[in-house]
Amino acid sequence: MPVLVMKFGGTSVATLDRIKRAAKRVGVEVAKGYDVIVIVSAMSGETNKLVGFVGETSPLYDAREYDAVVSSGENVTAGLMALTLQEMDVPARSWQGWQVPVKTTSAHSSARIEEIPTDNIMAKFGEGMKVAVVAGFQGVSPEGRITTLGRGGSDTTAVAFAAAFGAERCDIYTDVDGVYTTDPRVTDKARKLDKIAFEEMLELASLGAKVLQTRSVELAMRYKVRLRVLSSFEEQSDEAGTLVCAEEEIMESNVVAGVAFSRDEAKMTLISVADRPGIAAAIFSPLAEAGVNVDMIVQNISEEGRTDMTFSCPVDQVARAEQAMEAAKAAGDINFHDLVADTNVAKVSIVGIGMRSHAGVAAKMFETLRDEGVNIKVITTSEIKVSVLIDRKYMELAVQSLHDAFGLETAA
Ligand code: ASP
Ligand code: MG
Repeated sequence: MPVLVMKFGGTSVATLDRIKRAAKRVGVEVAKGYDVIVIVSAMSGETNKLVGFVGETSPLYDAREYDAVVSSGENVTAGLMALTLQEMDVPARSWQGWQVPVKTTSAHSSARIEEIPTDNIMAKFGEGMKVAVVAGFQGVSPEGRITTLGRGGSDTTAVAFAAAFGAERCDIYTDVDGVYTTDPRVTDKARKLDKIAFEEMLELASLGAKVLQTRSVELAMRYKVRLRVLSSFEEQSDEAGTLVCAEEEIMESNVVAGVAFSRDEAKMTLISVADRPGIAAAIFSPLAEAGVNVDMIVQNISEEGRTDMTFSCPVDQVARAEQAMEAAKAAGDINFHDLVADTNVAKVSIVGIGMRSHAGVAAKMFETLRDEGVNIKVITTSEIKVSVLIDRKYMELAVQSLHDAFGLETAA
């Protein structure tokens, strides 16, 4: 039998009624002849609640016990989903991560999946079970302790199962009906994409389009798992939602697939640091150790052996970054005249594999922003992406005007 993986996010299993709705969708696929692996999240809000319990009980908690607690939300939905399917006369059984077993590293709260043996579940399919309901987000370490995969991790569980079982597709049921050209709350011209390439989705996911955990897209790309994002709140056909797939599967697409943004950025500049070998390492190693997620980096030309170094990071990490830099200065590892933080910036990016073969995309972006009077503070580019840092108050304007300028409202 062909295998299908169906993943239901927290809002899709938020109540017993919604679990029933989801189970009906599973029943439809079983009736088509699939052996189905269902991956469930915890009921929405549940994981946050559990994380809160841990923090209140023990501020400097033991990460192994954190995982023991926060993984439990998924156990509830897995059992309830199996029961609901049984009530519909669909042979189903639930599996917690350790039972499969989903073997992970021992990096508690952000473990990586190393291996998913398929024999246990395949044997049950062989005996007539039609649905394996697996608790997402969790696994077991080499030491035999429960691990979790990081927030949003059940997307990654779903893709890993699809890869391990050679599933025909991995359907991710969520509360939005697909991947959009940009956030529909910013412009009502945002359009749902029928298909998007792995590389594009990866950029959009890491840029803050919160539909899929970034790691799940990386994994899907590596193992060529066809991923479909669709809503569990609407009647669905086989063509519903957005298919995330290899670019060869996409015949025609716009040069720019989407406009992404992230609102809460900060720009920090170290003024007048020595321009010498090792200075970048002396700055960015302590930042990395302090857990600062540095994104854009610009080093100015130097004058008389000194230069300015600018970088961006999430705004809530500014204090940590300042602390790390002051400590490095006090230790004599770096020297700078001043550290200036601009906490009122946002990042806007255009993404599209079409950029590889089209010249002038970045220029068009800059012209569009110029015409709106938006000043650009930092620019970075990759093969399929151009990002700019701008004043936060112009973010919506920038997204809307770029969406218009690249004609994203209509499909190619
Ligand atoms: N329940 C976990 C979370 O809220 C995992 C997931 O839903 O993907 O992060
Ligand atoms: Mg999620």
